[in-house]
Amino acid sequence: MEKRAQLYEGKAKRVFATDNEDLVIVSYKDDATAFNGLKKGTIKGKGVINNQMSNRLMKLLEKAGVPTHFVEELNERETLVRKVSIVPLEVIIRNISAGSFSKRYGVEEGIVFDEPTIEFSYKNDDLGDPLINAYHAVALKLADREEIEEIKRLAFMVNDNLKAFWAGCGVTLVDFKLEFGKTSDGRIVLADEISPDTCRLWDSVTHEKLDKDRFRRDLGGVEDAYAEVMKRLNEHI
Ligand code: UDP
Repeated sequence: MEKRAQLYEGKAKRVFATDNEDLVIVSYKDDATAFNGLKKGTIKGKGVINNQMSNRLMKLLEKAGVPTHFVEELNERETLVRKVSIVPLEVIIRNISAGSFSKRYGVEEGIVFDEPTIEFSYKNDDLGDPLINAYHAVALKLADREEIEEIKRLAFMVNDNLKAFWAGCGVTLVDFKLEFGKTSDGRIVLADEISPDTCRLWDSVTHEKLDKDRFRRDLGGVEDAYAEVMKRLNEHI
C-alpha cells in the first residue's frame, strides 16, 4: 500500500490518498480541540490510543454485524480505511445525562435513562454543528429517509455492544458521537473514530471521568485518563 497526497486535515486526524482509489489512510494526531475549536491543546499519546482503541472497537462491532470503514491497522497512528463520503450528521447516543443534554434541559449529570436517546447535529463548523431533526436532515438532502433509518438502527446496535463491552472493563458508557459514511456502492458504514475524544466514559465505581471532559473542563490528569481507559480495554478484550 502506497501512501500518497494528503486529502484533508481535520482537528484530530489527517487523511491521505493511497494507490487504491477505494482506500485511504487515516493518521491520528495528538492535537485536541473543544468548543468548536475555541479551546486548543495537545494530549500527549492521544493519537496512538485513539487509533488503537477505535480499531479494536470497530473490529468488535464488525463481529457483531455492524459494517465499518475499518480495513487494517498500519502502525501506531495510522489505519487503512475504506473511502466513504461522510454523511454530514453527528449521531449522538446517550445512556446517562451529561454535557449539552444537561445544559439544554437544565438537569444534573448522571441521570440514568430507562432507554437510550438519539439525536443528530448538522456537521457544519460555521454554524456550530446545530441540533437537527430527521425531517430537516431529509429536507437539506443530508441523507434520505431510508439512510436515516439505517443509521439509527446501526447506532443503537453500536450502543448495545459498546455498553456491554465497557461494562466488562469497569467503565460506564455515558454517551458518544458516531459518524457514518456511504461507500461507492451506496452502503451505510460506521466511519470516523470511537475513542475517549468521542465518548464519555466514567469509572463504573467512582464515576471518575476517563475521557475528553478532563481536557474540556481543565480537570487535569488528561493523559492518565486516556492511558487508564486503554489499559482497561487491553485487559478485557
Ligand atoms: N461529541 C463529539 N464531538 C462533538 C460533540 C460531541 O465527539 O463535536 C461527543 C462527546 O464527546 C460526548 C457526546 O458526543 O461523548 C455528547 O456530547 P454533547 O452533546 O453532550 O456535547 P458537549 O458537551 O461535548 O459539547
